[in-house]
Amino acid sequence: MIYPATDITIQQAAEALKQGSVVAFPTETVYGLGANAFDTLAVASIFAIKERPYFDPLIVHVNSLSMVSMVAATIPPVAMQCMEKFWPGPLTIVLPKKDDIPDIVTAGLATVAIRMPLHPVALRLIELADVPVAAPSANPFGYLSPTTAQHVAMQLGTKVAMILDGGKCAVGVESTIIKIENDEVSVLRYGGIPVEEIEKATGLAATSHTTKIEAPGQLPYHYAPQTKIVLVGDIMSVPDDATCGLLLFKKRHIPHTHIHIMCLSDDGDMRQAAGNLFSCLHTLDALKLKVIYAEQVEEVGLGRAIMDRLKKAQARFM
Ligand code: AMP
Ligand code: MG
Repeated sequence: MIYPATDITIQQAAEALKQGSVVAFPTETVYGLGANAFDTLAVASIFAIKERPYFDPLIVHVNSLSMVSMVAATIPPVAMQCMEKFWPGPLTIVLPKKDDIPDIVTAGLATVAIRMPLHPVALRLIELADVPVAAPSANPFGYLSPTTAQHVAMQLGTKVAMILDGGKCAVGVESTIIKIENDEVSVLRYGGIPVEEIEKATGLAATSHTTKIEAPGQLPYHYAPQTKIVLVGDIMSVPDDATCGLLLFKKRHIPHTHIHIMCLSDDGDMRQAAGNLFSCLHTLDALKLKVIYAEQVEEVGLGRAIMDRLKKAQARFM
């Protein structure tokens, strides 16, 4: 059930976390499905609810730097620099893990992914629960991420007792995930913090090629709607057909009158576009169209995160 986030409902959700339940809550990226990161059984129910494979590790959410030390064995100076610069915010940092963190959280890896979300409800929930909260996105594995409480209810409503409603997610795409080793930054997933900003803050060049899959963001397909997605460069090549949808990057006049059109932004603002990406895809997907054509965006800054999600959605149907 959906509960508007208030002092009382956040307190109830924190109690539920302490008692081993799973709750859905808002963050600035997407809605999360959270459990006490130290509670193996509670974390196992996240995997069951999402039908998520156990090889796919979770992000642990914290509300303070002192909570990071409950989770991470060491914090290299570059990681600390990134935390100070980008937290709370959509940056996840992969660090060596403490033994207390159960293997189910990290899929048996020796590292753990950690993030401090920029959302008052998420921060208060973690503070009241007083434990790090392991939380992936609150959607069935591989499907579109939820950016409203209603998206969570539609996809997982029967399986999650409590969904805290904190409104629409401001960033709207998942966090950027980086790994820091020997003063080298590697990008495991493009997301809400542009890689260019991380390079500027650290003075290091970020590499995005890792030899093995370390995050499902690196799987060939993910984040997909049920409707076929086709990326297009030239909008005019798209048929004007009522059984199709068109996802435009920015609003402008086009001659099509039958196709279902949605716009990611008014005038090409990347932040607005990222914020609307999943909700536009949810809306078009619900129309049960034959195909959704999506306009390509430039792969710089947040455009990389947007194109990454669109390409992975398209790859599901290739
Ligand atoms: P989700 O919250 O569903 O977007 O998924 C969390 C992402 O973090 C997944 O892509 C995970 O694979 C990634 N992740 C979590 N822990 C680690 C880790 N220790 N090393 C690499 N990636 C991780
Ligand atoms: Mg996810």
